[in-house]
Amino acid sequence: MSKIKITGLTVSDVRFPTSQEHHGSDAMHTDPDYSAAYVVLETDAALKGYGLTFTVGRGTEIVVCAVEALSGLVIGKTLEEIVNDFRGFYRILTSDGQMRWIGPEKGVIHLATAAVLNAVWDLWARAEGKPLWKLLVDMDPDLLIKCIDFRYISDALTEREALDILMKAREGKQQREEQMLKDGYPAYTTSCAWLGYSDQQLTQLCSTALAEGWTRFKVKVGADLEDDIRRCRLIRQMIGPDKTLMIDANQRWDVSEAVAWVTKLAEFRPLWIEEPTSPDDILGHATISKALAPLDIGVATGEQCHNRVMFKQFLQASALQFVQIDSCRVGSVNENLAILLMACKFNVPVCPHAGGVGLCELVQHLILFDYISVSGSLQNRMCEYVDHLHEHFRSPTVIRQACYIPPKDPGFSCEMLEESVQKYQFPNGEVWKTTLLQKGQ
Ligand SMILES: [Mg+2]
Repeated sequence: MSKIKITGLTVSDVRFPTSQEHHGSDAMHTDPDYSAAYVVLETDAALKGYGLTFTVGRGTEIVVCAVEALSGLVIGKTLEEIVNDFRGFYRILTSDGQMRWIGPEKGVIHLATAAVLNAVWDLWARAEGKPLWKLLVDMDPDLLIKCIDFRYISDALTEREALDILMKAREGKQQREEQMLKDGYPAYTTSCAWLGYSDQQLTQLCSTALAEGWTRFKVKVGADLEDDIRRCRLIRQMIGPDKTLMIDANQRWDVSEAVAWVTKLAEFRPLWIEEPTSPDDILGHATISKALAPLDIGVATGEQCHNRVMFKQFLQASALQFVQIDSCRVGSVNENLAILLMACKFNVPVCPHAGGVGLCELVQHLILFDYISVSGSLQNRMCEYVDHLHEHFRSPTVIRQACYIPPKDPGFSCEMLEESVQKYQFPNGEVWKTTLLQKGQ
C-alpha cells in the first residue's frame, strides 16, 4: 500500500453562503460564510487523499495560496516515506527554512498545513482500509509517538510520559471501543442559539432538539447583556434545571469585563464560558478562570489557539478547564495528538470544537481516539455538533440520540461531493455567480 506516490495536489476555494440565514453568527463573526480550502491529493494508484481547513469566507483565497506554496513539499513523496518518519515530514512542512517566517506554526500558513496534513492522514487511513479513528486506535504506541513533534513541549510532556499514557490506557481499550460502536460519543448542540437568531427561532429549534434527545446546549453571548440574560433565561426554562448549558462569547470581552458579564449570567448555571477574551491571552484566561471558579463556571478555549505550545502554556497556567481542540487550526492529527496527551497529563477534559463545514466530520475521529486510547473517561466530556452542511460530504456524520456514531468508511470523512465543490466554488461556481450578480458585484 505504502508505495503509493503523491503525484499532484489540487486546492479549491469552496464557500457556502450561510450568512444569508445568520447560521454561525456570534458576537465577533456576524456574517460568516462557512468555507473551506479543500485539498485533493492525487496519487499514482487508484486512491486519493481528501483534506480541508475551515474558514469563514473572505480570505479563503489566501489560505488556498498558502496551500499551493506548501504543495511542492508533498508532491513526489510516497506515503511510505511520509508515515515512516511522520515527525520528520511534519517538520518539513512547519519548519521550511524560508516559509516558517510567515508563521511559524500559526495563522494562514498553519491553516494551510492542516489542510495538507489532513489529506495525508485521510490517504493513509484509506490505504489501510480503516476510518481514521480506527487507524489511530490500532496503531502501535511507539509509532503514534513518532508522529508527534515534541519540540517546545518536552518541558511539559516528554516522549516517555506520552508513551506511558498510551500504554496505561491499553487497559479497557477493547470495551471502550465496543461501547463507542454501540452508543457513540456524547455530543452537544450549538445549532439552536446563534446570535443572529430571533427568540422565536431559538424556541422552535430548542424544542425540536429536546424532542430529538439533546441534553446539552450552547448559547452565543457577548454582544448585549440584556439580550444575553433574556436568551439564557429562555433556554434554561426550556431545557429545565438538569440539562447542561454552555455560553460562548467568541473573544468579545476584555478580562475584567468578562468576569463582570459572566457573573451576571451565573444564575443560569453555565458549565463554561467559552473564548471570553483574546485567544492569545493566556494570563488573562488564568485570571478569568480564577475569578469564576467560586461560581463553578469553567473557562473553555482552543478553536483559535495557534498550536501545541500555546496549549501547553494554557495548561501550565491553569488558564482553562476545558480544552477545545480543532481539527483544522493546528497541524492536523500530528499536533492534536500532542494536545490530547498534554491534556491527559494535566487532567483537563477535552471537548472539541466543531461545526462550520467539515469540522464535525473530522474531529469526531480525534475524540473517539481520545476516549478509547488516551483519557478513557467521559466525565465532563462532549463534542460540539452543529447541524449545517453535512449533506455535502460523501460520509457525513451520523448522530443518534445526541451521540456521534463512529464512522465506518475508510479515511477522515472529509471528502466532499464533486457536485458541491463545483457548485460552491468561489467565485465561479453556480451559487456565487448568481449571488454576486444579485449584489451587483
Ligand atoms: Mg466557539
